[in-house]
Amino acid sequence: MQVTGKVKIPNGKRVAVNIGCDFDAASVWMGSIKRSSPVYLSRGEFGAEVGAPRLLKLFDKYQIKTTWFIPGHTVDTHTDVCKEVFARGHEIGHHGYVHEDITNLSYEEEVKILEMGLESLAKIGIKPSGYRSPAWDYSPNTLSILEKYGFRYDSSLMGNDIYPYRPRPVLEVNMDKANVFGPPSSIVEFPVSWFLDDFPTQEFVLGFLEGMRSTQEVFERWKAIFDYACDQEDGACFILTLHPQTSGRAHMLPMLERLIQHMSEKGAWFATLDEIRNAYYEEN
Ligand SMILES: [Zn+2]
Repeated sequence: MQVTGKVKIPNGKRVAVNIGCDFDAASVWMGSIKRSSPVYLSRGEFGAEVGAPRLLKLFDKYQIKTTWFIPGHTVDTHTDVCKEVFARGHEIGHHGYVHEDITNLSYEEEVKILEMGLESLAKIGIKPSGYRSPAWDYSPNTLSILEKYGFRYDSSLMGNDIYPYRPRPVLEVNMDKANVFGPPSSIVEFPVSWFLDDFPTQEFVLGFLEGMRSTQEVFERWKAIFDYACDQEDGACFILTLHPQTSGRAHMLPMLERLIQHMSEKGAWFATLDEIRNAYYEEN
């Protein structure tokens, strides 16, 4: 059984809300999508130079603290923007070095990438509390590596949608009998979802992804999930994943602002994932 927790919501609020910004810049094109030509790099540049400042301005307007998961490559390439994110009071988490898919890496290769990301973050004074896998996938070793390096939470798995939980290591995957899991980790999982990610519905990547969907459609889906979490009133979460190069665009920002206004009116507690981790508890 999954060990599921809840969040102690401050008085007067109804649901915990984390807006996450996966600040991939060029690294998602180079690492995950394997396209390093000038046009793809310029889409990353848009995220850093245009999208990120617009999102920071919007969050300032509503005095919202968010969590930015930043690959080491983005820290090293757009250092001043990353410093600005931190200076404005947002949390910064680990997001790989150059947006690697770690699924099939050896233990040593995975540790090396984790350390490269930590070194880049340390250069701007960050020791991250949380980790989000760049490709939203794990290797069999990821959970134990995160435990070893002292992470307090992860936000990459999909075993729940509105409640945090403690993930179990996968010890055996069997096609002819039950899979075998280890005991629940000390790490708290804040689950992600492709339904709560701006990238799949918006980005157009020739031969790979045909986003281009209406922002109204996205708004309705995000609002429906938020409203469901809010109506539980028992310590649920709404974990949203944005990308500065996607949600920092002219057509996305008004929709995002409308969503923030709706969530505020209904009693959202906007917090960083580290703050929500501090408020995590289990009933038994
Ligand atoms: Zn990413």
